[in-house]
Amino acid sequence: MSDLLIVTGASAGIGAATARMAGFNGWSRVVVHYGRDKDGAEDTAAMVESMGAQAYLLQADVSKPKAIEKMFAKISELKPGKIGLVNNAGITAPTASFADLTPDRVAQVFGVNVFGALEVARQCLLLMRAWDKGGAMVNVSSASARLGSPHMYVDYAASKGAVETMTLGLAEEVAAEGIRVNAIRPGLIETAIHAKGGAPDRLDQIGHTPPMGRPGTADEVAEAILWLLSDRASYVTRTIMDVTGGR
Ligand code: NAD
Repeated sequence: MSDLLIVTGASAGIGAATARMAGFNGWSRVVVHYGRDKDGAEDTAAMVESMGAQAYLLQADVSKPKAIEKMFAKISELKPGKIGLVNNAGITAPTASFADLTPDRVAQVFGVNVFGALEVARQCLLLMRAWDKGGAMVNVSSASARLGSPHMYVDYAASKGAVETMTLGLAEEVAAEGIRVNAIRPGLIETAIHAKGGAPDRLDQIGHTPPMGRPGTADEVAEAILWLLSDRASYVTRTIMDVTGGR
């Protein structure tokens, strides 16, 4: 039995960077979760192992509660000790004005970013309680939660607002159990999420707008996530940390 880090959406971007850097941060075992991108997840797993940690590849569509439950049943078989969770899997949606946010689109965004993230956190909490070694969770929000993302994707921004509210409530519920829960708010970060949401040139257009004058990298977000998960942040809970270049 040794410590186990679970990273959802580890096939690409921020999740892949966090999983890859986990070995440097003392994690000996890493669950590399993916939805559809098995090749990406295999690349991440290979990098995890090249850093000296053991990788476990697990698939689940986080918009499907049963799939999440099954995944956590498999994780339980790994006999985790202290558990870390990076609740990272998420999607954006095409740029649109508020009037164009159809119920189907909003349901899709909330299905992954809110219902998925909440169920992942809930299943992880059950696992942490079962193994009784405490742990830490980092939920991945977005600067959009406080900016609102007008004319871009207010639905996405609102979904991340829900992630933050969940973080506050859950953190307080479980603080006395030795479980810390925090969230991170990335700003404009160089990953494929912008292209997947139909805006491949988003960072070319607005990547220079943060006070630091540039977009951030997935590695820069991963550093903050891994600090929040570590014992170096032992007195930090119920906190939402910006990694936005000052935006
Ligand atoms: P990404 O597209 O590179 O990675 C997203 C990951 O989530 C992928 O591994 C993808 O497969 C997974 N995923 C998506 N839907 C899924 C589903 N239904 N089931 C299982 N897995 C699913 O994007 P990223 O930029 O690395 O985003 C990671 C997180 O960071 C997301 O929650 C995103 O909202 C947040 N974020 C990103 C930025 C940014 O600028 N890149 C800014 C703020 C917040």
